[in-house]
Amino acid sequence: MTTETRLGEDDKLHEECGVFGVWKVPTAAAITALGLHALQHRGQEATGIVSFDGARFHQHRGMGLVGDNFGDAKVIDSLPGSVAIGHNRYATTGDTILRNVQPLYADFEFGGFAVAHNGNLTNAHVLRRALVRRGCLFQSTTDSEVFVHLIAISLYSTVVDRLIDALKQVVGAYSLVALSNEALMGVRDPLGVRPLILGRIGNEGTGGWVLASETCALDIVGADFVRDVEPGEIVVINDQGVHSIRPFGRARERFCVFEYIYFARPDSIVEGTPVYDARKRIGAMLAREAGVPADVVVPVPDSGVPAAMGYSVESGIPFELGIIRNHYVGRTFIEPTDHIRHLGVKLKHSANRPALEGKRVILVDDSIVRGTTSKKIVEMVRQAGAREVHMRISSPPTTHSCFYGIDTPERGKLLAAKHTVEEMAELIGADSLAFISLDGLYQALGQPNRDPAAPHYCDACFTGDYPIILPDQADNADKQLSLLAANH
Ligand code: 5GP
Ligand code: MG
Repeated sequence: MTTETRLGEDDKLHEECGVFGVWKVPTAAAITALGLHALQHRGQEATGIVSFDGARFHQHRGMGLVGDNFGDAKVIDSLPGSVAIGHNRYATTGDTILRNVQPLYADFEFGGFAVAHNGNLTNAHVLRRALVRRGCLFQSTTDSEVFVHLIAISLYSTVVDRLIDALKQVVGAYSLVALSNEALMGVRDPLGVRPLILGRIGNEGTGGWVLASETCALDIVGADFVRDVEPGEIVVINDQGVHSIRPFGRARERFCVFEYIYFARPDSIVEGTPVYDARKRIGAMLAREAGVPADVVVPVPDSGVPAAMGYSVESGIPFELGIIRNHYVGRTFIEPTDHIRHLGVKLKHSANRPALEGKRVILVDDSIVRGTTSKKIVEMVRQAGAREVHMRISSPPTTHSCFYGIDTPERGKLLAAKHTVEEMAELIGADSLAFISLDGLYQALGQPNRDPAAPHYCDACFTGDYPIILPDQADNADKQLSLLAANH
């Protein structure tokens, strides 16, 4: 497999994102801004909203946080209508220019069409090449724009048929929300790698509906959870209600296990399981699998907190906030250079000396990617006087890059891709290091042990078992042929 070396950082468009859509509520844009605010953890780089007032579409996009862009009543007032969709973008590479900020919008012969996308299309470059050759003029460098062009060139007449036509040509992991003059639409990819949920808003009978990446976006707008959108399902929401289309054959679901480990907000309920409970159970399993005598269990905040609580309860070792996080700095991950990333970790975390001095400390974090965070934290905890530092990680070693929408660097930068656990312990300076096992992770999530022939989750970052063709494989795949040969 040469994917990792062929794809330089600049070729990789990570689309770790949050999406939200609402049908038939007063001030839909204000509701969407609130929903996006609750989904801010899924993307902090840029944000946008498109609304529809029954006659016209309105749009606003900007770099930065939801509050910085939509906190102003004048901006919300410029987005009238009772339907809207919105997007939070978190792309660490590629262009960060405004024309890449979603939702994307286009005027077609059938009316307006807006789309917001969470995930990664692994054949986007192939489709883009074919579309450009046909004369399609791309405005952005995001994957998501291929949807717009595929819909534009489709020979079908209705928007929904055109959307299905487009979806049949793309390969990847995606959750979409889309808006036309007639309907709000939500789509999950055939394997359901990325999340999308359906909720109801307003009194029964008022016909209000919500689509969102996570349930935490329902709570903030007072909406009720209805169900997860199913893998491969398109939900079409209009004045007749919600109906569901399944244009793909049924495939075995492969939900992203990293949503449970890190990405989803702990108060979200994912596929029927509260993320908070799942993380505590993962921590408890970690304590059973990799216990070590110690005086305190300390989370690396915030991502390590629920797992550390589970570890502490299971092991009987007291939980202490030995590291304090400063909430007024962005995530270290979004800083562009290794140098700044180092600085970022120091800005973000401080040792709480009285909780650490003279103690044997178990540090719990959710993952080791480059190892930057762990190395700094271990050093910081030692400097605060810890006698021993044992690192426990609530995921298996991250050995492979994600091509399906989670931001991981190229494989060469993943610590676990090149080193054994013992070597990693040495590199981060810990007295011991242990990761939860893959089977332990599955069990903590209420599953049987991982079945290599039919794994329940997408766990490619831990196994290299990629369930959807990768970008370099897409070059040779049949998918492009239909587009090139069909001569629409
Ligand atoms: P490292 O410093 O090893 O490169 O990164 C590990 C840290 O990054 C962990 O504290 C973890 O919580 C966080 N992390 C892991 N995966 C992601 C991700 O996909 N996005 C962001 N923003 N942070 C991540
Ligand atoms: Mg973290």
